[in-house]
Order: sequence, then C-alpha cells, then structure tokens
Amino acid sequence: MKQSTKTLFTLLPLTMVMAQALNAAPLDSYDFTANSKDATSYTAKANQEVYKQLDFNNKKAFEEVDRGFIAPLDNGGFIKGIADVPAMQFVQGKQAPDTVNPSLWRHSQLVNRGGLYEVLANKIYQVRGNDVSNLTIIETDNGIILYDIEYSPETMKAAYKLYAKHRGNRPLKAIIISHSHTDHYGGIEGVIKSGLASEQDIASGKIPVYVPQGFVEHAVGENVLFGNIMSRRAVYQYGFLLPKNEKGITTAALGPLVAAGANGLPTTVHEITKQKESVTIDGLQFDFRLVPESEAPSEMVFEIPAWGAVSMAEDVNHLQHNIYTMRGAKTRDAGKWAKYINNAIVEWHDSAKVLFGPHTWPTWGNEEVINYMKGQRDLYKAINDQTTRLANYGYRPRDIAKKIEIADPIMKQWNNRDYYGNFENNVIATYVNNLGWFDGNPVEIARHTDADTGKRYVESFGGEDVVIEKALDYYQQGDYAFTVQLLNNIESYNKDNKNANYLMADAFEQLGFQEETALNRNWYLTAAKELRNDNLLPQVVNSAGPDVIKAIPSDLMMDVFATRIVPQKSLDAGRIAFDFELNGESFGVEVENGVMNSALDYHPQDSMGTIKADNMTLFGIISHKLTVKDALATGALKVTGDQTVLNNFMGVLDSNIPANFNLIQPRMN
Ligand SMILES: [Zn+2]
Repeated sequence: MKQSTKTLFTLLPLTMVMAQALNAAPLDSYDFTANSKDATSYTAKANQEVYKQLDFNNKKAFEEVDRGFIAPLDNGGFIKGIADVPAMQFVQGKQAPDTVNPSLWRHSQLVNRGGLYEVLANKIYQVRGNDVSNLTIIETDNGIILYDIEYSPETMKAAYKLYAKHRGNRPLKAIIISHSHTDHYGGIEGVIKSGLASEQDIASGKIPVYVPQGFVEHAVGENVLFGNIMSRRAVYQYGFLLPKNEKGITTAALGPLVAAGANGLPTTVHEITKQKESVTIDGLQFDFRLVPESEAPSEMVFEIPAWGAVSMAEDVNHLQHNIYTMRGAKTRDAGKWAKYINNAIVEWHDSAKVLFGPHTWPTWGNEEVINYMKGQRDLYKAINDQTTRLANYGYRPRDIAKKIEIADPIMKQWNNRDYYGNFENNVIATYVNNLGWFDGNPVEIARHTDADTGKRYVESFGGEDVVIEKALDYYQQGDYAFTVQLLNNIESYNKDNKNANYLMADAFEQLGFQEETALNRNWYLTAAKELRNDNLLPQVVNSAGPDVIKAIPSDLMMDVFATRIVPQKSLDAGRIAFDFELNGESFGVEVENGVMNSALDYHPQDSMGTIKADNMTLFGIISHKLTVKDALATGALKVTGDQTVLNNFMGVLDSNIPANFNLIQPRMN
C-alpha cells in the first residue's frame, strides 16, 4: 500500500476518498475473467527467493528414495478410473515453473515416483508411489505379513501383484494396521482379491489383523457425525477437482495421489492393548508401542528387534505433518507426538538400523535413523513448547504464528518442511487446542456474522466497486493475502459480483502458486475454481462405505439421528416416545422440545411402539438410497405398536442436508 494514499484516506471526506481510490486502480485497468492466470512477477520473485533459503544442493533424499529399487510399477501405476500416476510425472526432470514453490516441486519429484523396493534383503519390501500410502511386505519363515494395505483395493491388488512377480507368491500369515486412517486399511478387499485370504479367513480371525487399541471405534467415529462437512472440505484439501499440471495439483505430499475406489474396513481384529506388547508372528517378534492421540487417535509403532527394523507409523515422515488437518478433525497433541518419538529414540537408540513407514521412503543406518527421528521430534516439540511460551505472554494465535522462532537446524531440514501439515496452522491449532477459539479480545465476542460484517465494511468503503478498486490496488502490489481479505467482505453476502469473484480467484491462485504446503495450494486453487464457476463444484468424496456404516456402534447411530432433528418440526409434532431396536440393541427414544434423547435398555412409559432396523437400512433411508416403503416391504425395517410412530419420527428429521455447497461464496439458502 502506498503510504501517501493511506494518509489521504484518513483526512479527506468520503467523496474525495472515492475519487482517490478510482485514480489508484480504475476497474477498466484490469481484465476480469474466469481464466487461470500465469504467475505474476511478485509470485515468480517469491518462488525464486526459496532457492536462497534452502539447501537445494543436498541431494541425499534423491539417493535414499531410489535405494533398493527392483522394478517399476506396472503400467507406470496407471489403473483406469482408480489412479493416474503417470499424469503426476510432469514434475520430473525439470526445474520448478514460476507457478509452483520450488520446495514443494522438489518434494513432488521425490514422492511422485514408485515401484517395488527392497528395504532389507530377503526381509522387508515396499511398493511405493501407486497410492497415497505404501504397501510394506515383511517376509517371515513361512510366508509374509502385510503392513498397512493402502487406500484403494485396486492399488493394493496391483501392489501385491508387482511384489509377487519378483519375490514369488507366499502365504499370508497376518496383517498389521498401524492406525485408524482409511489410507492404511481401506484396501482390505484387495487382499482378498489377490487370493491371499478369503473373506472368511479375515472375518474368523484365521488370518489375524493386528491393530492398535480403539481402532474400529476411531476408524468409524472420525467420519460419521461430521462426515458430510469433512467430505466436502476434503474435496478442497486434496485437490480432487484440480488438473494434474503446473497450475494444478503437483502431489498429495504423503504419496503421489489418493487413488479412488470403494474402501473397506476390517472389523474382526486383534487389538494391541498394552502400552508395550510383544507379539511373535510366524517366528518373527514385533515389539509394539501404543502412541494414541498423536497423528491418529488410535495408532501404534513397532520394532522388529531381530532386524533392528523400526516403523514409526505416521508419526515420523519426510515432511511436517498436520497437528490440525484443515478438512476438519480433532486437533492433535504436538506435545504427546514429540514425546512418543522421544520414547522410541530412547528405547531403540542403539538397535535401530532402518526406519520404514506407510508414507514416504525409508532411512538406513543407525545414526541417520536417530537423526531423522530427532529432527521430527524437535519440530513437534518446538511447536508445542514455543506456542505455549508465547501464549503466556498474551500474544494472539496469528501473532504467535508470525513471531515464533524455531531454530534453523529444525526448520531448514528438508524432512521438516511443511508439505502436508502447515507450520502456521500447526501453531494456531496448538493454541486453540489448549485455550480455545477466543483470543482474549472481546471484539470477538461482539462480532456480527461474516455477512453482516461484510455488508457494513462495503457500505463504509462506499460500495462494492470501491472495495474492488482498493483490492485491485493491493493485488497489483502483490499483497494477495489482503486482496482476498478485502474481497471477502463482498463474497460474504453476494455471490453475483463477477469482478469480485474473478479478482478474488486470481489472488487465491497466486497464493496457491507461492505455497509450500501441498494442501494449502490445493485449497487456494480449488477456491479459485469455485469463484470462477457458475455452478456448485461437484462432491466426489464419500467417507462412509458399507463396511464403515455396518461398523458404526448403535449408540453412535443414535447420536447421528439426534443431530438430524429439525427443532420447529419437533415442536409442531409434540413429544414422540418409542423403542428403537437397532442392530439387536434396544434404546428408549424421546423427542421433544426440538431435541432427541436416548438411553440403552430403557423403555419410555408412553412408548408408541417399536422401530426395528439395522445401520445399513437406516443409512439407506437417510441418504435417500432406500425408501421407507421398500424397507418395510423387505422386512429390513419393522414397526410394531402404533404404526404412526415411524412417520412421526421421520417427519421431524432433516432430510435435506446437501452434499455439495460452496466454502468461499455464501450459502444461498
Ligand atoms: Zn496415512
């Protein structure tokens, strides 16, 4: 912002301010269009600066990532309709274009490659780069163990096929799943399709599936109550609608891309429940250590002591991870996370020879492994401790994120760069996780809604055109963050001002082009897409497949229904009391005052009757895939007693929650 203009603003009457603003950046000086733009000179310069800040001459990671290479992915990892890995290779063999942060470009080159790799000869193999996560195959005396089984059944099947082609078919002895995130268990159907186990082998526990305590509960829990909004936000976070090119998505950071395909959930599992637990599988000992509430609510790490082989699950990766994931999930505890890594360093300090995980690539050599773990530990520890220290001074979250000093030896390590999680977000999240959303300034208590605030700002400026002119001024000076901030005042209540939409999109795009964090880049670029599009962006993520729905505990399903009550409809209907027999469990349900309460093994005195169903039927009905009439006809849904109870109950439920909606422009209803 030009200082002279700023001063004039405070002194001149409104009409003159408007004239000044018009002189500063008249609207006809800019080509407002819905097209994607090139990098501006500011963006190109910001990206060039990155070369001065980081050690691009250090090529060690490129040696490590290719070490042990045996064979490339079949068809380059192309599986029709599931994964187009070859399309992610545009990053290889050339310098970063002006539209991509060079540090992110470098990381994209590292993870957008794959094949079958030897981690330890005749012991551990990995298929990497055909999905967001790796398949690890651990060879035992008489067979193999699969460790984390990818996101998609199709990529899982292709990964095993590649392994078997080079190492031969071997009988499956067990599956180990490190934690409760879908990209680590979603491929279970692919294990069956590979002929390694029958559905019955898994369901009966004949082929044991080792998981950390609370695995099934958390695997379903994270995706159910807030599943709809999380799925919508995931579309923006993972860039599913972006082109795979220099102006679009460059990588999924943890792997080249997230593959498509229905995913499953193993529910017959062998839980590791002790803090330290050793299990011998086909002659090979695993020392498991639980690390709950770190990267996932249910997670475990292990060492195979005979080989000095350590896996830190997703707590140690060649990148900075999310303390807070912006698609929306409970914030993680950076302090605990650091402590778990430290415990592992203390325990396996002398024995660790190789570290491998379900994402990124292995690290070999005792000193290298320990140094790598120390770097990751210190990153999360510093975020936790320094945020706490500065919060105690009274600094606010955003100020802390700008002010916080983390030592260069931590921040400049390639392994700690924020390709997946974002440093500023992680700091803010750590503050909020401990102190909540309020920063101590009661302006935040008195705040209007975004729309009401936006209208007042625009009115104070002198109308939408003046705001756009000012925004254009900031845009042309390369201050894209403030450009979007200003224009958001218009977007907060009006989605139809095309000039505002297009300029905001252009500013988001430049922010995306400068971003080091892949997920932020995706978010900015998808936001630009939303603003340039006349129609709602499609919804392409579904977090709840049939296996997940079947596994939802009955009391959680009661909570789902309670969150669907429409208060006015409930008030109109009056009290509704009934018995709800769900998946064989019996709940007493009372709906009144716009609220639904339920209790297990309780029978309300004035119960109208009993509704009997299972999760699949109920989910089918509330997601409009099954009609009540059909469900009654097949007997999947039964009503005894007063038959009107079903209609009364269905009548107070919200059946209009949309799957696709805007995240930047205002909701229109
Ligand atoms: Zn993962």
